[in-house]
Amino acid sequence: MNERIFISTAIPYVNAAPHLGFAAELVLTDALARHHRERGREVFAVTGTDENSLKNARAAEAAGVPVAQLVAQNAALFQALAEPLGLDFDDFIRTSADPRHRPGVEALWRACLARGDLYRRRYRGLYCVGCEAFYTPAELDPEGLCPEHRRPPEVVEEENWFFRLSRFADQLAELITSDRLRIRPEAHRNAALAFLQFGLQDISVSRSVARARGWGIGVPDDPTQVIYVWFDALANYINAAGYAHDEARFEARWHGARRVHVLGKGVLRFHAIYWPAILLSAGLPVPDELLVHAYVTVEGDKIGKSLGNTVDPVHLAHAYGTDVLRYFLLRHVRTTHDSDFTEAALVRARDAELADQLGNLVRRVAGLCRSTGGRVPEPGPSPLAEPTQALLCTVDAAVQAFLPHQALEAIFAHLAALNRYVAEEAPWRLARDPEAQERLHRIVYGLAEATRLTACSLKPFLPVSSARILAQLGLDPGAPPVFGAGRAVGPADPGAVLFPKG
Ligand SMILES: [Zn+2]
Repeated sequence: MNERIFISTAIPYVNAAPHLGFAAELVLTDALARHHRERGREVFAVTGTDENSLKNARAAEAAGVPVAQLVAQNAALFQALAEPLGLDFDDFIRTSADPRHRPGVEALWRACLARGDLYRRRYRGLYCVGCEAFYTPAELDPEGLCPEHRRPPEVVEEENWFFRLSRFADQLAELITSDRLRIRPEAHRNAALAFLQFGLQDISVSRSVARARGWGIGVPDDPTQVIYVWFDALANYINAAGYAHDEARFEARWHGARRVHVLGKGVLRFHAIYWPAILLSAGLPVPDELLVHAYVTVEGDKIGKSLGNTVDPVHLAHAYGTDVLRYFLLRHVRTTHDSDFTEAALVRARDAELADQLGNLVRRVAGLCRSTGGRVPEPGPSPLAEPTQALLCTVDAAVQAFLPHQALEAIFAHLAALNRYVAEEAPWRLARDPEAQERLHRIVYGLAEATRLTACSLKPFLPVSSARILAQLGLDPGAPPVFGAGRAVGPADPGAVLFPKG
């Protein structure tokens, strides 16, 4: 049986329009999902929107509209990212409106309650509305502000439901140190283990109906309390996979799959500590892998409405093209450390890398195919076979290691080698020599095959351009990813321009 993979993005708050940072997480997750599908793995890729949060209730209050209306309007903006970003997810779950979500959250709550891990207690703590989380004084920055939002937390006192997180410290440490719950990059694995070193305190998992403005999912059998948004939001993953409404689907997509969450480093604690503990309590399989990415900054600043420098991903995709934006987000935005976005850098990447390296090679190879009669010549041995086949392995290894930028670096290094090969062999000089025709055809065939396989390895990253490259070479997009298996389906078209410069 093929390997099955469940892969998700974190679900964003919908109190504002989507920004470039979340677009980067969507494109990253989409590229990983597409790559695994290309390699014959059975993938279930899910994203959605986190709508039951106090932040949304407050934003609606400020705008003077009903919360349900505000979240529906903004959720539509997130759903509408699929087309400009070239996304191919299998599912989209809205936590306030999807009929699968509420029953799943309630079932998860009851499962933890039945295990004795939920109890009521009076609580007074420092709460950041932005994070929807309580902080201990030690977790705040040196000025006593939320480290994510640089705002003072509110002192909140009320009677809440608590989750017995403290019970799970040893189990979590064992899962993380054994890599049974694999956290990458390594720095975030160490950060997760550091949370555990301080010991775990039980966490508040509900709030009063009054403080929640009546918005959110009620605690089962307790009309005074609403379920804490993190408990609610995290449940989206299993709910999309079928939990509490479709056992067969849940068996295939959660129990029987490699369970992978892609998330930003700001929500590590929720995914590495709270979420596996909740699943352990409920007797459900924990994630296999947390892939944690760094942030996109714009001119050096963190993106966020509160910091006033959002960059609209839809505008960028329309102005520069889906694949140009995807390329920048996958190659020049690193998973491993914060990366700065500027429009000038995007233009540089389009011109110097996509147009000059990729576009140029495809145009030259299509021209050569045409010169040999308009079609790709018959197979023959080529010195390009081995390095091209090796590229496919390098790309897979880089994607599995959550280093997509390394996959693209390997692909572009190969493109540079192919461009050098064309310059060195100068096959157009052979065209008029009747004695050299066989040699010419061998060179052209090798180049066409190498370009085809490179386009195939680019497909998860640049799906639109990959298809256009094959069309431009006149090659069958369904041919297997093995050197020598390419088939011509039409004449090559050297005239098309893949990445027009502005
Ligand atoms: Zn905060």
